[in-house]
Order: sequence, then C-alpha cells, then structure tokens
Amino acid sequence: MAEPMSEQRLVGRFLTPKGWISGQLVHDTHIRALESGSVASGAPRIIPGFVDLHVPGGGGADVMQGADAVRTAARLHARHGTTSFLPATVTAPQDVLSEAFSGIGVVQGAREPGEARVLGAHMEGPYINPGRLGAQPPHPREPDMEFVDSVCAGGIVRLVTIAPELEGAMDAIRRFAAAGIAVQIGHTEADFDTVSDALAAGARGFTHLYNAMSPLHHRAPGTVGAALALGEYAAIIPDGIHVADGAVRAALRAIPKLFAVTDATAAAGMPDGPYPLGGHIVNKRGNSVFLGTDGNEDVLAGSALTMDRAFARLLSLGLDVEDVSRRLSAYPADFIGRWDRGRIVPDAWADFVILDDNDVITSVVVEGEKITLAD
Ligand SMILES: [Zn+2]
Repeated sequence: MAEPMSEQRLVGRFLTPKGWISGQLVHDTHIRALESGSVASGAPRIIPGFVDLHVPGGGGADVMQGADAVRTAARLHARHGTTSFLPATVTAPQDVLSEAFSGIGVVQGAREPGEARVLGAHMEGPYINPGRLGAQPPHPREPDMEFVDSVCAGGIVRLVTIAPELEGAMDAIRRFAAAGIAVQIGHTEADFDTVSDALAAGARGFTHLYNAMSPLHHRAPGTVGAALALGEYAAIIPDGIHVADGAVRAALRAIPKLFAVTDATAAAGMPDGPYPLGGHIVNKRGNSVFLGTDGNEDVLAGSALTMDRAFARLLSLGLDVEDVSRRLSAYPADFIGRWDRGRIVPDAWADFVILDDNDVITSVVVEGEKITLAD
C-alpha cells in the first residue's frame, strides 16, 4: 500500500458531468469535495484525465515484454495526459499471453510515481480473422474455451477484441460478457447479420473502427455498416492517418459514444526507427508506424499517437472541449464499467488534465500525483 496522501487543493474551472464549475477542488488520491466559488479570470481549466483502452506500448517499450516495459509505457503516456489505460496484448500463443497478463497484473497492483494507472489488459486477439491481421503477428486461432474461461477467471483482462465469425466466437463472447469483460468486434470479416448476432450475445463496441474490418458496401454493409447502424460505442484512432477526417465525421454522427484510443506502439514518444511489436519489428517514420523495416508502407502497424495529440486533433475537427473530453475520458471509462475514472465527481480518482487558454496541456495529475511533463 502507498502511504496516505495529504489533502491538496486545486483552484480553477472544472469540467464536470453537469458542466463547468468554478471554485476549489479538494483531493488526496480521490476527489473529496468540489466547492463552487469565484475564481480569478485566467484561472486554469481542469478536465478529467484521459483513459486509453488500447495501448500496445510507448517510450520504446512493448507491453508484451513484461512488467518493466509496461511501466515504461505507463510513464510515457502519463506525460501526454493519459491517467489510466489498458495495455493491449497482441495475437500470440496462449502461454505467451498468460505471461504478458502476469506482467500487466504486477503493474496494475503496484503503481509507481510518474505512471498512468493500469486498469487491466486489453486482449486483442488471438481470436481474430487470419485474413484481417493487419499488423497482428501470425498466431490467430479459433476460441479455446478452456483459455477463455481462464481469462474470465483471471481478473486481469477487462476488454477483448474478437472476430465474431470464427467457430466458437459467439460462445466466447457470451462467456466474456457474463464475466464482466467488455467485448469489441475487430480484426474481422463479419457481415452485418453476424455483427448483429455478436451484439445480441454481449459484444458492445468496435476496435479501431474502419481499420482491419469488412468495409461498408451498399449491398454488403459489413462490420463498418453494422457499427454505424447499430453501435452505441466504438473506438477510433484519430491520428489523421488511420482514418480520414471525413470518415471520423461520419462515425461521430452515427455512433453516440465514439471514443478515442491511441493504439500506440513502442514507437510512441520516440525518434524514427525500428521498434518491437510482439515479435514483429515495426518502423516509425514521422507520425506513422509501418510493418517491417524495408520500406513496406502498405500496412500500418499501430500508431505513434498520444492522447494529447488525439485531443488536439478532435478539437481541430470542430468539436468543443466538453465533447472531446467525454470521448477521451468518460466514454472509455464507462465502456469498461469504471464510474470512478474519467470524470470529475466526488469519490472518483483524482485524475486530471490541466489546460491553458489555448487548450494546451500544462499539467497532468494521476491519483493526486502531479506528473512531470515531457519537454
Ligand atoms: Zn488492431
């Protein structure tokens, strides 16, 4: 257990579920009180910390490499506004996944200063379509119910990405959902009706909407068509590279709780060059990350995105701060059932992003701890 934190005070304008409240917030690791009162003009605006449900890595580290790598990613993303997150495992043999979950569990149970809080794992694959691997390593398989049950009992995995057209996938979705694990449809060739069945079985969202899924054709609406027609939640990578702005706008109209993820690889926060991704080597060039190092620029391999840039990017599409904040904080927290994250309300964790007048992040607070930002 960490030592108890003494009470601290923040003065400014706070974005709450009821709108902006000016005044003073009292917190230790948690928000204890929010007292409204007058504040000086120019007082900072304070919004909930960002919650990223899809983080394969960051700061040069791949979360498949164990607890130290998870901590490196946790420090990198905290400096960019992420206050809690799900490290995402890649498609791998099941014993390799079990080991990765152990490393993630160690960090989840013992946060160290400077780190964003790990809320559990996102298991992306191995139950995905071999024809829609994207940059996932070549270990896709049909669901193995013994392993599904061990994941359900393990308490580390909070979110699963699965292709519902696989043999046994509907049964697996039902088991995950019954265990309180959120299910996203992704890396899939599923048609509209199969997606509809998967939603009825307990799936509730979509993984990196548009990427690595059957597209919308007007006579074959595919997974994208089903997401736009039926989805309440979906995750999207708003880096301006994975999805064109117009497609983001279409999704914003169609999916009420569209939320942002980074899908950041080890390359996030690092110079151009080669980085590991679960057995693959990926190559960062500018803001993009590609599979392979030999000039193969056909396959995007995760991103180099951080949540501060996702925030700026969505603002640049014309969304207001209140809307963008929900899509980076409350909606993803809600999606995995965490009312105590991603919102400024009494008894929630003291996770904040502090903005200047130009919407630039000047400070990040994780569980009451002020984080030293990147240069
Ligand atoms: Zn993916």
